[in-house]
Amino acid sequence: METNEIFPKGQQLPKEWFSGNAFLTLLVAKDKNNEFSAGCVTFEPNARTAWHTHPKGQVLIVIEGNGYYQEKAELAQAIKKGDVVNIPENTEHWHGASAANKMVHIAITNYKDDVQVTWLQHVTEEEFNSVEKK
Ligand code: MN
Repeated sequence: METNEIFPKGQQLPKEWFSGNAFLTLLVAKDKNNEFSAGCVTFEPNARTAWHTHPKGQVLIVIEGNGYYQEKAELAQAIKKGDVVNIPENTEHWHGASAANKMVHIAITNYKDDVQVTWLQHVTEEEFNSVEKK
């Protein structure tokens, strides 16, 4: 663990739903008090989620680095340490690192019954590269 890190890097996230190397440390699990989970997600440079939706929304708090958040049919937003992203329910989007920098965010994700995410297609290299050029 690097001395400037707040949380451990955690477990590698599956290539099925993440491009590149992404890692998760679960901080708060859903339980009888909390209808959400909270986790620290580390994206190495070029790593990103697939496109996905959350049935009751999600909040991202960026704690390190630089990356992107993009909703379908919208321009990608550059995000950096200190930024907070409030993602509406059932809104197709992805998030991840930039090509040159890693990005670490806390993800607070609400549940609807036992579902908190629906995974869709991967973000293609073409989609990612078009964001990088802007
Ligand atoms: Mn999300």
